[in-house]
Amino acid sequence: MCGIIGYNGTSDVAPLLLDGLEKLEYRGYDSAGIAVLEDGQIDIVKSKGKISSLREKISKTHAPKGDIGIGHTRWATHGEPSDENAHPHYSASRRFAVVHNGIIENFATLKADLQKKGYVFHSDTDTEVVAMLLDENDNGNFFETVLKTVKMLQGSYALGILDANDPDTLIAVKRSSPLIVAVSPEGNYIASDITAVLNHTREMYKMNDGELAVIKPDGVTFFNEDGDPILKELQHVDWDVHAAEKGGYEHFMMKEIKEQPDALRKTLSPRITEDNKIKLDDIELTDEQIKGFDRIYIVGCGSAYHVGVVGKYVIEQLARIPVEVDIASEFRYRYPLVNEKTLTIIISQSGETADTLEALREAKRAGSRTLAIVNVVGSSIASEADDVLYTWAGPEISVATTKAYSTQLSLMYLLAIRFALAKGSITESYSQELLTELQTIPDKVEEIFKLEPQIERVAETYTYLHHAYFIGRNLDYAVALEASLKLKEISYIHSEAYAAGELKHGTISLIEPGTSVIALCCCERLVDKTVSNAKEVLARGAQVFAVANEGNESVGNICDHAIYLPKTNPLFQPSIEVVPLQLLGYYTAKARKCDIDKPRNLAKSVTVE
Ligand code: GLU
Repeated sequence: MCGIIGYNGTSDVAPLLLDGLEKLEYRGYDSAGIAVLEDGQIDIVKSKGKISSLREKISKTHAPKGDIGIGHTRWATHGEPSDENAHPHYSASRRFAVVHNGIIENFATLKADLQKKGYVFHSDTDTEVVAMLLDENDNGNFFETVLKTVKMLQGSYALGILDANDPDTLIAVKRSSPLIVAVSPEGNYIASDITAVLNHTREMYKMNDGELAVIKPDGVTFFNEDGDPILKELQHVDWDVHAAEKGGYEHFMMKEIKEQPDALRKTLSPRITEDNKIKLDDIELTDEQIKGFDRIYIVGCGSAYHVGVVGKYVIEQLARIPVEVDIASEFRYRYPLVNEKTLTIIISQSGETADTLEALREAKRAGSRTLAIVNVVGSSIASEADDVLYTWAGPEISVATTKAYSTQLSLMYLLAIRFALAKGSITESYSQELLTELQTIPDKVEEIFKLEPQIERVAETYTYLHHAYFIGRNLDYAVALEASLKLKEISYIHSEAYAAGELKHGTISLIEPGTSVIALCCCERLVDKTVSNAKEVLARGAQVFAVANEGNESVGNICDHAIYLPKTNPLFQPSIEVVPLQLLGYYTAKARKCDIDKPRNLAKSVTVE
């Protein structure tokens, strides 16, 4: 998500922080700020907007002076982009200042406790509780105060912390959000990634979860979560700035594919309690309201629409509510049959997609309750919908979506379970079983990455391909839609997705020797039927690549290539199945030397009709 930088050394810190933040701006840029410590006081300047707005504010007001400081460029998760919500955040006494990347999952409970004790909060962020807790836990020793505070936090956090009473020390902590410590003769740094400091040094330590670093002007020491000192290995980085901002990958798309397990964890984990109960307290829908809906519409464009197709299967199966999925540009002009008994779910990564925004307005005009699934806090769709569920995927830069699609899907599952519980169509114990399984998905997605070499080999056979057909039934069909879009949008190969049973009603006439068919055979109860459809195209000369579950290896006997995926509850299979197909699209586009992150004619956020 956001970008953090910190410095403790001998140089004037403010220009150094601002330069570093500019390099990190690709990670998030809805607001930015710096905190500098001098003469026992912490001076914070922060501003909504890009780093250029912060620079402007500094030039109009004052430039904080000092040689120790922290900086942040924010990608909001809690509280919309504003001056108040920008980081760094002061503690109540202004003795501490904090920058944070991630989500404090238990912030609401901590905040309520602190408010009871009289703490007054100035922002809507989850981060400010960390600053206030530092005051609350303060025992005069900076290190011990941080250690005690961190033990109270749940969730993901990379933190940079200053203490006005300890002007020689910067402390950094990491759990589930990236953070490095970089060292140089002129001073030492913390940063979300090495891009921020490449102009100064290439020597760094990668921090692991639970670790804490104490940064002095002339040295760095590391500790484990119990506060015991540990030794870490210094690494030399050769990457140039472009490789560094992609985490060493060649393209943002690959970086984002690989970020999916983490993004899924961040989106799911705050919404499932330790005892496996669903906790969607970000939305206000009551059981009574849910029971009152006689129909759900799911509306989106492109991949967001495909999430809706999965949603239809899953919600109808679990909650037994009829679901219609529609493309936003169609929905808005077709006088949709929505009213106060309809829930309209609106899906958009950016929250600014023009057709989707208008579809939301159309649904509201007709009296429908609206619920948005978006990735960008404070976006137009988020502001106008009755309820919002945020995907906490972090900024997605590649035009072809991967982690936003996956996290939208995970929220769709949670909604389906929530609706089913409200309707009484599943038992509490089945919901717990589903939630337990859902939490295994990030690890299973990680397992898929082992298949990468195999997928790359198949993709290479597609280098000169003209046409591809993705076939599948039920949820395999829903995934086929997304897989086909992924392939065509970045590799420019003509590709279509078909419900496997529908092929013989016309399209099979296009199959000829050399046509490529990707047969999705993960829907256990329909595998045999899809395999029969695969045989039909094989008999007409098609090359078939099958994607099936482990345990169904016999599928491979009839196909040219096959891969096998870890099993999960059939309802959640799309989350696993889509990943090798994203990789297939990626490697095909790479073999064809296409501009993967910026495919021709496309834009990341489509703000025109
Ligand atoms: N959750 C914090 C906020 O919304 C940090 C977000 C970030 O990583 O930028 O302010």
